Amino acid sequence: MIVSKKSVRDLPPYEVKQRPYLLKLDANEGKNIFAADLTAALESLKSDPAINLYPDSDSRRLRLAMGNYLCVNPENIVVGNGSSEMIELIMKAFVDRDDPVLSFEPTFGMYARYCKIYGGQFVGLASKEDFTWDLGVMIKKAQAWRPKIIFLCNPNNPTGGFVVKASVKELLDAVSCPVVVDEAYAEFATDSLVREVDMHKNLIVLRTWSKALGLAAIRLGCLVANRQITAIINRIKAPYNLNGLSQHIGARVLDSKEKISAYVAEVKKERQFLFEGLNLLAVKPYPSQGNFIFFHALIDNLAKKLAEQGILIRDYGGSWQGYYRVTVGERWENQKFLEALEGLINDEKGKIATKNP
Ligand SMILES: *Cc1c(COP(=O)(O)O)cnc(C)c1O
Repeated sequence: MIVSKKSVRDLPPYEVKQRPYLLKLDANEGKNIFAADLTAALESLKSDPAINLYPDSDSRRLRLAMGNYLCVNPENIVVGNGSSEMIELIMKAFVDRDDPVLSFEPTFGMYARYCKIYGGQFVGLASKEDFTWDLGVMIKKAQAWRPKIIFLCNPNNPTGGFVVKASVKELLDAVSCPVVVDEAYAEFATDSLVREVDMHKNLIVLRTWSKALGLAAIRLGCLVANRQITAIINRIKAPYNLNGLSQHIGARVLDSKEKISAYVAEVKKERQFLFEGLNLLAVKPYPSQGNFIFFHALIDNLAKKLAEQGILIRDYGGSWQGYYRVTVGERWENQKFLEALEGLINDEKGKIATKNP
């Protein structure tokens, strides 16, 4: 019998359900704002870079464009196949067997997943009842656990909660291990730590092309940190880790800053619309700085019932049963989702009314 190494023996595969849909509001993907630019980008690929040659192993042009977009030095950036590759590289670089890795729960599932694959021990601290975080608790626990890495998803997926810079900086100063601030949704939030990596010995910021830039299909993400940290990551990163097509497209779109900011402004407006709409219904939405809203609803199998109408949202099991995450869509999508939700809430009221006449 072939057996895997111990750490992954009971790891379930990461399953992504492929379902037919009308509205896809389950994975926080951005809108396809670069559709027109992509044709030109692909056209110019016929000559540059030549597809028979290996791509630039250091992704220089892409890092230059991203450095320009983020206002950071390209030397502070390492790029890869989505933030997912960056999360894996961080575990690879800093986690030995049984080493603790600290974060809050609920949060992005990839931290626990990659931690487990590399034999580490993931410790998810409880959020407060309203899903905000007490970083003072994190500091105390870090002193007790001595983690090898701390992960903060900011804004947090799935809750949308946000920790201000000053609090994150207190954490950075209080602990000695690397603190990874996953800023996948930073464009939709009020603040970012990305320009401060040179001021902290232990700050790692993650950014992605998958959300505000609307390019989830080409799998692009990056890590931003001081040069001591990028040197460590560059030591273990695979050569030519990023394919030439993604490097090429990813760099080109970053020239269109106005398109990105116009889209971000639209999402923020629609987030407000969706939040107010949810607030008027018998559900509890939580304030969000991402392109999604987390809410609680007392309807059994809500996600399944919505999916039957072609509307996909994300649901949660275990301790977070009854909680859902919906991506902020365009106005018509948000309206359609709210109408469908209202319909299901009314059905539920009807059921209760017939049960208790
Ligand atoms: C969507 C998301 C990412 C992006 O992952 P990619 O691999 O870059 O597509 C990273 N972190 C969080 C918290 C996310 O929600």
